[in-house]
Amino acid sequence: MTDRYAVFGNPVSHSKSPLIHAAFARQTGQSLTYEAILAPLDGFAASLKAFAASSGMGANVTLPFKEEAFRLSTQRSERAEKAAAVNTLTLSGGEISGDNTDGTGLVRDIRSNLNYSITGKNILVMGAGGATRGVILPLLGESPAGLTIVNRTVEKAELLQRDFASIRVSSYKALKGQSFDLVINATSSGLTGELPPIPDEIFADNALAYDMMYGRETPFMRFAGERAAIISDGLGMLVEQAAEAFFIWRGVRPETGPVIAQLRE
Ligand code: NDP
Repeated sequence: MTDRYAVFGNPVSHSKSPLIHAAFARQTGQSLTYEAILAPLDGFAASLKAFAASSGMGANVTLPFKEEAFRLSTQRSERAEKAAAVNTLTLSGGEISGDNTDGTGLVRDIRSNLNYSITGKNILVMGAGGATRGVILPLLGESPAGLTIVNRTVEKAELLQRDFASIRVSSYKALKGQSFDLVINATSSGLTGELPPIPDEIFADNALAYDMMYGRETPFMRFAGERAAIISDGLGMLVEQAAEAFFIWRGVRPETGPVIAQLRE
């Protein structure tokens, strides 16, 4: 029987993960299937159990089940513990191993695909939701000069500071007069066509502006287009987090460049 993998979400039909993992499997000569499974909002645990019982070996988890996947995991990586969310599950012998590959995906995209070194840089992350929590540990692992989290609701950013003592927290207003080498948009403001209220001078010389969203040009990308040296959307992060999951499951690291190029077409 062919090894079975899947992505669970609700909604899930928009997910590019089946395409990405099929491309990885072809490229590396691995024999596996990867499908998208729509789990009912109150039925993720049951869907996962049924999948494991029918030879499911691993799963990716997308909105809104990442926190539930964390709770269901019988063992977790440090990345998952710090993120308090799980996007990659390995199913074996009744154990559910939870990991979070989102932050590693972001760091790899910035470092390897954009050839931008994070070490010694001054970083600003906008937003204090699940995506931000997931990327803090891998970003700190690159030894930046500093990491500031700015959020509309400052209290949410302050909660993050309890778990990551070395980060700084700011309101948008307090950013006036400051500039950063790497500005990451981890808000969902692109969905509503809004631009977080960042000052004009936010980008230092040679700054990289990174938007975690992909598939559309956000107001942040347009703003950065006129001011930052390098601009990127989050498609590379998506492919890199998938590659990390593939590596966890199969022990083989696929080449991501051709898959990113294929998706961009
Ligand atoms: P959450 O809903 O958990 O958090 C949303 C955040 O956006 C909050 O901090 C919220 O602030 C902030 N926000 C929303 N609207 C605005 C606005 N108009 N101005 C300023 N701040 C705003 O979302 P996630 O953290 O899960 O996801 C964030 C983004 O990251 C999404 O667009 C998602 O698609 C993307 N993402 C991309 C991935 C990839 O692989 N490329 C992986 C994971 C996520 P407040 O707290 O004040 O409400």
